[in-house]
Amino acid sequence: MKILVVGGAGYIGSHMVKRFGQLGVDVVTLDNLVGGYRDAVTHGEFVHGDIADRTLLDRLFSEHRFDVVMHFASYIEVGESVRDPAKYYQNNVANTLTLLEAMKDHGVLKFIFSSTAATFGEPQYVPIDEAHPQSPINPYGQSKLMIEKILADFDQAYGMKSVCLRYFNAAGADPDGQIGERHNPETHLVPLILQAASGRREAISVFGRDYDTDDGTCVRDYIHVMDLAEAHWLGVQRLVDGGGSASFNLGNGQGFSVQAVIDAAKRVTGREIKLIDAPRRDGDPARLVADSTAARQQLGWQPQYADLDTIIKHAWDWERKHFN
Ligand code: UDP
Repeated sequence: MKILVVGGAGYIGSHMVKRFGQLGVDVVTLDNLVGGYRDAVTHGEFVHGDIADRTLLDRLFSEHRFDVVMHFASYIEVGESVRDPAKYYQNNVANTLTLLEAMKDHGVLKFIFSSTAATFGEPQYVPIDEAHPQSPINPYGQSKLMIEKILADFDQAYGMKSVCLRYFNAAGADPDGQIGERHNPETHLVPLILQAASGRREAISVFGRDYDTDDGTCVRDYIHVMDLAEAHWLGVQRLVDGGGSASFNLGNGQGFSVQAVIDAAKRVTGREIKLIDAPRRDGDPARLVADSTAARQQLGWQPQYADLDTIIKHAWDWERKHFN
């Protein structure tokens, strides 16, 4: 089996590539290194390039016989997507369409897509299952939903089979400590808390303490990046075995408040973490929790690192090893 991993130098993609190394699966990583790191690619061939480059895609699809393409390469910051939607629609939609067209033209008809909980928008109920209406409230979520819709049409018209995996809050790092999360700028809660714990950052802002939750802070569903990678591998097997297109919500199914994550980080690190109470961040719903029953039942997915302290410990091991 041979797999093209687009965005394999980024946070989730690099953990996927590492998992393929463990599984002995042949991969080619294509990454423009805008948000990724060459040294995060620990297995297989690396190609530096962009999915907007149709000539490069034609060359890759002619040189290799890929069974499946996985696509992790996108912009992911909600706030930035509101300020600069063109950037999001260009890369996350137009460039992804270029990739899908190249696949179609070369007869590569299996695709695993990194989608997001942001396609649901303001939750009408939690936990959120696949039947929940999709009504994104920002260009980032819109851009991902547009690709989900394009994929449904590509299945209908060209027989392209896809698995859309809607991540809730990816967190943690490779349990071996070899790779981890390295966004620049960092906007995600867990790495920011750990930067505050390690002294790389003065304090962590808590965005809102007046939500309708037990302790007033936002509740999110943190899922270990290696568990996400495993779901992708199960998605590959589904498609290779002739399974049809499907979408799955991926989370632990258990919500943790911002304050609970901070408390867990204090426990795991044994460090003081300075907090600043800040206003709510625009567009943050009070609770986002996944119902992952379908992924468990249909993919046989079983998260191995569901415990919050374990997720934070792996991220902390990475923070200390890589940045200190
Ligand atoms: N958050 C926070 N302070 C920060 C960053 C995030 O309080 O410096 C909160 C944010 O409001 C949200 C949760 O932490 O409720 C997770 O945010 P993150 O940006 O990590 O992921 P998102 O839920 O936006 O995908």
